[in-house]
Amino acid sequence: MATVVLHNVSKVYPDGVHAVRNISLDIQDREFIVLVGPSGCGKTTTLRMVAGLEEISSGTLAIDGRVVNAVAPKDRDIAMVFQNYALYPHMSVYKNMAFSLQMRRRELKLSRRQIDQRVREAAAILGLTDYLDRRPKALSGGQRQRVAVGRAIVRNPKAFLFDEPLSNLDAKLRVETRAEIKRLHLRLNTTTIYVTHDQEEAMTLGDRIVVMKDGVIQQCAPPLEVYERPVNMFVAGFVGTPPMNFFTGCLKNGADFIISPPNSPCQQLRLPPRLAACAGDAQRPLVLGVRPEALSPENTGRFSGELNSLQVRTGVIEPLGDKVDVHFALGGQDRFACRTDSAHAGQIKPTDPLTLHISLDHCHLFDPDDGGRNISLPQRMQ
Ligand code: ATP
Repeated sequence: MATVVLHNVSKVYPDGVHAVRNISLDIQDREFIVLVGPSGCGKTTTLRMVAGLEEISSGTLAIDGRVVNAVAPKDRDIAMVFQNYALYPHMSVYKNMAFSLQMRRRELKLSRRQIDQRVREAAAILGLTDYLDRRPKALSGGQRQRVAVGRAIVRNPKAFLFDEPLSNLDAKLRVETRAEIKRLHLRLNTTTIYVTHDQEEAMTLGDRIVVMKDGVIQQCAPPLEVYERPVNMFVAGFVGTPPMNFFTGCLKNGADFIISPPNSPCQQLRLPPRLAACAGDAQRPLVLGVRPEALSPENTGRFSGELNSLQVRTGVIEPLGDKVDVHFALGGQDRFACRTDSAHAGQIKPTDPLTLHISLDHCHLFDPDDGGRNISLPQRMQ
């Protein structure tokens, strides 16, 4: 087990693509860190630099306190699990798992018995004992991925690196295997860096999640902190499904937020003192960020207060079981959503006008002129 510390790390590919820009990350021993962000944001490049598969253009990478920029991948004592499993098709599960140890048996000072013991222990942990003699083609996708994980476990590495390991699995298996990876981490406690573009996977797995965009870290924090206190509009919009609603408006009289949708009447919200104070005397447009669950067709206690509702038009309705997502339009724009209890949504019909109450205490204010910065966070978090 190990700490992994990146200090001002950048990557410029030979063709000039600046894939990672000056990122610094202090990963604790035993921590589970998830790198998440849209395609092309630099997650895989970062992981491959940690693995030693990609050269670092500038900055330093230290594993367990030792700078390893120039250390070969095989000498970094790190095991990587890839999206495509990368199993040897002609070898049995047992051989696939034992292979890397057998190749370096003398160097690692391992006896055949010790290798056998490690493979069987890993197989038992992963529920693969009955499959040790099979070839990969006779396994399901989930089982293949477990073999790939097993191959990493037997090496007893200082850290695990996972590159989108669940992308090839169907939705149900993805959720099951996700839970297995989490159980495995609780059991082995090995420092783990995990790459995914799926924010839900990131939220459920990470001790901390690192949200990236265009090669830059936007926010690094525990999942709930990222969800409840996103530092900017990008993070707020990326984490959470359906995404946060953004309403552009202007402040009037210090506390009223006026939304002026095109071709429809203005709507006025009375901001709570906390939000009004953050806005100061801003004369420019600001963006009010409202999570779908902070909207409700019912004016329950949480949503009470004067001037806390929006007049909207109902769009698509998506039942989810105990909850329902009600999509809606405000003026000409129809990209908003409210998540509410199914019991509150029984009477709502597509295209009907609808009053939605907002729990304004749970909202955020963003400044579009300042990179979408969340100005409603305490100063130390911005
Ligand atoms: P994805 O989720 O699609 O895998 P990612 O966040 O992992 O994306 P990277 O694969 O790290 O992103 O790519 C970051 C940027 O670097 C992208 O613009 C990509 O096109 C570019 N890139 C990746 N590999 C190379 C390469 N070998 N040569 C040049 N550019 C590259």
